[in-house]
Amino acid sequence: MTTHQEQLEKYAKLAIQTGVNLQEGQGLILNAPVESAEFARMVVKEAYHAGAENVHIEWGDDDVTYMKMKHAPMEVLENFPKWRAEGLEEMVKDGYALLTIYGTNPDLLKDIDGDRIAAVNKASGEALSEYRDYIMNDKVRWSIVGYPTLAWAEKVFPDLPTAEAQEKLWEEIFRISRVDKADPVQAWADHNETLRQAREYLNKKQYKQLVYKAEGTDLTIDLPERHIWHGGSAVSSDGAAFNPNMPTEEVFTMPHKYGVNGTVKSTKPLSYGGNLIENFTLTFKDGKVTDFSAEQGEDTLKHLLDTDEGSRRLGEVALVPHESPISKSGIIFFNTLFDENASCHLALGKAYPTNIENGPALSEDEMDQKGVNDSINHEDFMMGASDLDIDGITADGNAEPIFRNGSWAITFA
Ligand code: ZN
Ligand code: ZN
Repeated sequence: MTTHQEQLEKYAKLAIQTGVNLQEGQGLILNAPVESAEFARMVVKEAYHAGAENVHIEWGDDDVTYMKMKHAPMEVLENFPKWRAEGLEEMVKDGYALLTIYGTNPDLLKDIDGDRIAAVNKASGEALSEYRDYIMNDKVRWSIVGYPTLAWAEKVFPDLPTAEAQEKLWEEIFRISRVDKADPVQAWADHNETLRQAREYLNKKQYKQLVYKAEGTDLTIDLPERHIWHGGSAVSSDGAAFNPNMPTEEVFTMPHKYGVNGTVKSTKPLSYGGNLIENFTLTFKDGKVTDFSAEQGEDTLKHLLDTDEGSRRLGEVALVPHESPISKSGIIFFNTLFDENASCHLALGKAYPTNIENGPALSEDEMDQKGVNDSINHEDFMMGASDLDIDGITADGNAEPIFRNGSWAITFA
């Protein structure tokens, strides 16, 4: 029997070794909720153990965030401190890796005015654009791991007493992140190999289009020429492998920003800026959302779509079989890191430039020409379901089954 303490230590080691793959002499930026302090310290210890030259912690706290969102004047919310953006940029330019311990209350900002949330998202999105470039182009190694804060655990398991809910969420996180395996680092290496086979199959195929059909969804997505599927471990520009998300079950590429047509229906709630958007439908014409509705959170959805020009277009198309370990749990996590790995999804907003040949070197004009979307947003939303069929359309116009009834229609070598 492994104790909770031992599991935590394995988890911290996994985050440093397999997540960011921290190298001797490298610095680490660690984002951590105050509530996770004990675990964060274990991560710091592992980091120095791996030879870190420095660990810089950015502590976060939901309650403090809430109070600021509630009380600070609008001009404070509209201005992201320049010194903070510059500090973060300086560290990534110095080769720091980035690890985020993520666990936030999905309903945190429920009663905060949408304009205030939009102002903060816009200010930080703009101020951190260069910093985000380092991350989205894999110029640095980065990773995100989950942490079951009490408020999040209560949201996921509302019928359990808080302490039990947290314990149950820990169990799920450990299982899904393969921390319950005897050797999690090896288990991840095997898993990365499976995802590699899937992405290599799709990269060889170079489908021109993907056609999605499910209840409420009838959508055709053009893929740009020389698009690249990624999934599992990635490689940073200095050549070392890392795992951007833990867990991860997806293979993903970029849609053509001007080539999305039809309607898509969400199948899980989307937590955006501390608010939930549920049961929503988006209609696309030539890549742009021309119509939308939501049973809940329509105003939040409108704010998301109106952030900038690119927020109405897609930046990611991801395939996740319906029988993934996260999906099998049947739990809705209200947290994109987990929910995105239970379901096929799309993202509104910025595309990862690494999803197209030579992407990180393209100018803004070239990106637009090739169909690479840009935005300060990148928001995954779930649209996979047990009745989802996806066809790939080849260069000569043939339709080949990729997904049938929510899962792969292909067997990999
Ligand atoms: Zn994704
Ligand atoms: Zn995404």
